Amino acid sequence: MTAEVDDGFFQLFERRIFVRGEAYYDAGKVDPPVMIAENLWHTVVRGNDDYQVDIRLRHGKVISAACTCQYSQRAMYCKHVAAVLIFMRESRRRELDESQDQVSEFLI
Ligand SMILES: [Zn+2]
Repeated sequence: MTAEVDDGFFQLFERRIFVRGEAYYDAGKVDPPVMIAENLWHTVVRGNDDYQVDIRLRHGKVISAACTCQYSQRAMYCKHVAAVLIFMRESRRRELDESQDQVSEFLI
């Protein structure tokens, strides 16, 4: 199961934090998020340490986020949260692409 997340989430992040989140995602440091309660997603991001990330979503919008890193204690939206949201967006895109492919195969 994949979380639905709107593209606008990047606005929550400082630019330099978001860029570092992208690097984490690209390096494959994000485990697939799992839904542990209604609208609440949990996963682990592997960096110098393992960081536990929780993200609450509603209708594709980010309601809140939490991470066990130090930065996140001051500012909720750290690079690990960014990496997880990018992961969600990309897996959602892949799913949509695949279903598109199936539709076009069917039409041929
Ligand atoms: Zn963090």
